[in-house]
Amino acid sequence: MPFYFMIVFMIVFVLSVAYFAKVVILQSEQAADEDILRIKESYAEMIRQKDELSLEKSRLQEEADSIFGLYDLMRDITKTFDEEEAFQAFKEHIYRHIMINDCQLVETLPKDMDDFSSFKGYQFFPLKAKRMVLGELVYKGVEAKDEEVFGILAQQFALALRRIKLYKEVENMAVTDGLTRLHTRRHLMERFEEEFARAKLRKSAFSFLMADIDHFKRINDQHGHLVGDQVLREVGRIVNLSTREIDIAGRFGGEEFCVILPDTDKEGALLVAERIRCSVCDQKIKAYDAALAISISIGVAAFPDDAHKMEELLENADLALYRAKKLGRNCVVGFSGNADEKQEKL
Ligand code: GH3
Ligand code: MG
Ligand code: MG
Repeated sequence: MPFYFMIVFMIVFVLSVAYFAKVVILQSEQAADEDILRIKESYAEMIRQKDELSLEKSRLQEEADSIFGLYDLMRDITKTFDEEEAFQAFKEHIYRHIMINDCQLVETLPKDMDDFSSFKGYQFFPLKAKRMVLGELVYKGVEAKDEEVFGILAQQFALALRRIKLYKEVENMAVTDGLTRLHTRRHLMERFEEEFARAKLRKSAFSFLMADIDHFKRINDQHGHLVGDQVLREVGRIVNLSTREIDIAGRFGGEEFCVILPDTDKEGALLVAERIRCSVCDQKIKAYDAALAISISIGVAAFPDDAHKMEELLENADLALYRAKKLGRNCVVGFSGNADEKQEKL
């Protein structure tokens, strides 16, 4: 009996051990499965984060490219003070960065709708900077996804264009007299020096006219300075119209005008001076509601006849002008080379 009991006990014991062992194995298998699942999940999370990071990397790369692109664009379009060159540089960048069929720069859009036919299918980008209207970009073939980039680049171009226009304005202000639109005295003297040196080198003729409005003080006194200014403008316009493209006309100061005449001998210069004088006195100068009879006196000196130095040429034209005043005004006098001429002014 005890033997059977022992056998049964052993069997029960072995079965129990086997059962518990199985339970333990099952539990550890389950734990291992859970671990694998967790590892899989965290791996998936890492893959997701990696994808996110590479997306962020390419976004940053794109941003860096566009910043460098902008930098390159600005560097290229600010290299020049010429509108056309700046526009060509802008166009090159645009064609490099986006798909576009055509891009043109126009100063103003046509007012008439009929003239718009040449811009059929085009889009327009107004170039504005600080309320300054600088022109219009007329373009076509830009895809919707590239519109924003086009706008950013075009805005940069507008800033460069504004800089070029301002530069030109300042440059013009330095060489153009604000009242008469003729050259300023400073610019005139610079050109005088250049042209005189060239005439000497080429042994060509060169003349200089000095003109002065007669009794201008009276005009100011009788009609006021506003009318006086208008007379100066009109005389400046006439002087300009009576000279050739290669001549350089300027306001020497006050109511005095000068004209540099390259390749012109004294005889020719006297004719030009006479033409200017006649143009002024043959017409009534309109200034507001006044129509005034104005006359000018002109002194002429020429190289090589009257002087070999620039200062001498200028002084001799001034002496001739002085004589023209002495002779009764409204006339042209060429420098005579007479020693008394100098004495007379002194
Ligand atoms: P003359 O025939 O001898 O040349 O006599 P004038 O009266 O023209 O000569 P004057 O040199 O005595 O007078 C020149 C006047 O020009 C004096 C000055 O007030 C005036 N003037 C100079 N610049 C300007 C200007 O920009 N605007 C106006 N309205 N007057 C000016
Ligand atoms: Mg004067
Ligand atoms: Mg005068």
